Amino acid sequence: MSGRAHVSARMLNRIAQTDSTFTRRGNSWVGKCLICGGPLRFDAATGEGVDVEHIVPRSLGGSHDLRNLGVTHPRCNSEKGRNWDGGRRRRRDPDRYQSMAGRLLAERARRWREPEPDGNA
Ligand SMILES: [Zn+2]
Repeated sequence: MSGRAHVSARMLNRIAQTDSTFTRRGNSWVGKCLICGGPLRFDAATGEGVDVEHIVPRSLGGSHDLRNLGVTHPRCNSEKGRNWDGGRRRRRDPDRYQSMAGRLLAERARRWREPEPDGNA
């Protein structure tokens, strides 16, 4: 499951379609990182340039539901994964971890837009 570039391209397109910060520009999607809010861009065909973020990680019972997924810079995703989801800071400061996850879920909900009904994504 972690051969991520190709697994993610299709999922990244679905996330971008349901994230109102994203706009399609030619072969790319341009939008904002869910974690830091900074600008990012990825290739719609390959997903290259970004990561898929599980806001509540699968290891903690999070799902593949689109509302639990965001597009992020690889460095933002790995920082959260390593320092928070991975355990140490999460265990040391569970309240802060909860509030971070809550903030990201709220931001994802705020950005939510209904996908175009074109069916064959
Ligand atoms: Zn970022």
